[in-house]
Amino acid sequence: VFGKNPTEMPVRHDDGQQLDVVDIFPTLQGEGPLSGSPATFVRLAGCHLACYFCDTDFLTNRKRLSCEFIAEFVMTRSNLLVVLTGGEPMRQNIVPLCRVLTKHGFHVQIETSGSFWPDALSDRSDLEDLISLKGQVSIVVSPKTSHVHPKIQEHAGAWKYIVTAEGSHDSQGLPLSSTQDPTRRCTLARPHVMSNAAIFLQPCDHQSTLDSETARRRAVGLCQEHGFRLSLQLHKILGLP
Ligand code: SF4
Repeated sequence: VFGKNPTEMPVRHDDGQQLDVVDIFPTLQGEGPLSGSPATFVRLAGCHLACYFCDTDFLTNRKRLSCEFIAEFVMTRSNLLVVLTGGEPMRQNIVPLCRVLTKHGFHVQIETSGSFWPDALSDRSDLEDLISLKGQVSIVVSPKTSHVHPKIQEHAGAWKYIVTAEGSHDSQGLPLSSTQDPTRRCTLARPHVMSNAAIFLQPCDHQSTLDSETARRRAVGLCQEHGFRLSLQLHKILGLP
């Protein structure tokens, strides 16, 4: 979509029994702390942001599916990991789906830009329980703006920053480029100083081989210099969805 997608705001006060989904598919998780794990991906529709490098299709084949339908599909696979991604998965109330999936023994990993947290009180505490007490849900936040919701700050298990070919970084080695406009600088939200969450740097998949190679070299250099972990998009290397 490369920044051309119509942006969509969060769905408020929804019971989450039905969700707008683009695709459900089995693959390997190619990014972040669970990279290499067999997983079923649930790609949710829509995003409130329009990153200029976004290569994810979260618009076409959109359909409204019930939590039960999604859970039944997931159960036809043997993958114990379910990745809720997007678009922005936290734009919709995904708590009932997390509840159903974890009840059936799945681990749910949420990939989010970190802007939102469920607004219904009961759902909010449910999600915190699933993350903190039971460890059945984990969050990987990839900040795309200077703001990350305080609850995401508190519960993120890992942070993932996209390193571009042309971008700049601060003295800590983290990106300083706006994800919405490549000509602007922006300090993307950082983990709290007390956070123990792992930080990953992921080279941007530019549309040009040269730029992608430059981004890879920058990311590797920053990881070596600052002790971050490298996240490669393994699924792309392997030709998986
Ligand atoms: S936040 Fe993610 S899904 Fe949304 S536009 Fe940016 S890269 Fe694409």
